[in-house]
Amino acid sequence: MDFIQFIQNIYRTTDFIPLHEPRFRGNEKKYINDCIDSTFVSSVGKYVDQFEKDIALYTGAKYAVAAVNGTAALHIALMLAGVKADEEVITQPLTFIATANAISYTGAKPVFVDVDRDTMGLSPNSLRDFLENETTKLINPSTNKPSTINKKTGRRIAAVVPMHTFGHPARIDEIKILCDEYHIALIEDAAESLGSFYKGQHTGTFGLMGTLSFNGNKTITTGGGGMIITNDEKLAKMAKHLTTQAKVPHAWEYRHDYIGYNYRLTNLAAALGVAQLEQLPEILKSKRELASQYKAFFAESEIQFATEPENSQSNYWLNAVLLENRDERDKFLKYTNENGVMTRPIWELMNRLPMFKDCQVENIENSELLADRVVNIPSSVI
Ligand SMILES: *Cc1c(COP(=O)(O)O)cnc(C)c1O
Repeated sequence: MDFIQFIQNIYRTTDFIPLHEPRFRGNEKKYINDCIDSTFVSSVGKYVDQFEKDIALYTGAKYAVAAVNGTAALHIALMLAGVKADEEVITQPLTFIATANAISYTGAKPVFVDVDRDTMGLSPNSLRDFLENETTKLINPSTNKPSTINKKTGRRIAAVVPMHTFGHPARIDEIKILCDEYHIALIEDAAESLGSFYKGQHTGTFGLMGTLSFNGNKTITTGGGGMIITNDEKLAKMAKHLTTQAKVPHAWEYRHDYIGYNYRLTNLAAALGVAQLEQLPEILKSKRELASQYKAFFAESEIQFATEPENSQSNYWLNAVLLENRDERDKFLKYTNENGVMTRPIWELMNRLPMFKDCQVENIENSELLADRVVNIPSSVI
């Protein structure tokens, strides 16, 4: 059977099939109506608190702080990790632009280290190579704390930001060990990996903080939204404070003690989130079922289907295939898109974009290989 027919059978339609569309099959309308009836549609309300509690419970993080989107959540997490202007943050070149943008908002410069071929997330081996060969440890005389300095630039490496690509967990335990050894904050961009676990632990909970996204195309959606998850109470409190204009609590006075941000999630959005999260188990079940059908289909072809890496349980947010080369990739993209099936290539590598072309890049052969070959295929819940 050909791919177009196969996918039309799966989604039981000959109409256009998008890459990923949301499904609202639960209490979405009920909770949103409740917001409207109560007049609490904006930045305070019970659904924001409820959504934070529910996400903390689900991920196993002690605290969860809602934000207006995943990019804002990552920006705040990086600031709270102590990332400052003219420092450096290690991340992967193969990621969605938001990762590199959030790093840039702090004034820090991204350094691009390769991904693993199988996980498509930051490679602990490449990270180790970089840290061993390109950095030196230094004791800061004023704080007496050790830090890791990039030998080439003299800048401090303030954080490492791995990203769990398409929901497939990176080798996060090995990355964590390296970050501890080199005294570098670990912040996981878990925007794509709600519902993905590594060795039984939810992604985003391995480092100092993790961030999630509830954009319209993600596993669950609030329209737009994000979350910071952490086990550190002080960081959680500060995250709440900074995302809500840093207002000092008082019965009537307007007092603010930091330059804060209006990064709040609205109660309306959170109401959608609470209803969506209730359905996460069924969503994940459906996504696994779809992935297994894809796996069986592509087993018969030259095209390789990306399966969950070892030691992990993936949410299969966006299914992906690997073509033989860039030419084959382009043929597949053209064929599918011209026949009403939406497919998309993986992102352009960050170091090839004009804003990041001068950033330090290590050997990134896996990222380059994947950038040439990976295509995302329709992944909406059936
Ligand atoms: C979706 C996403 C984000 C955050 O996106 P928002 O649209 O701001 O919620 C961040 N990083 C990655 C890798 C993403 O895929």
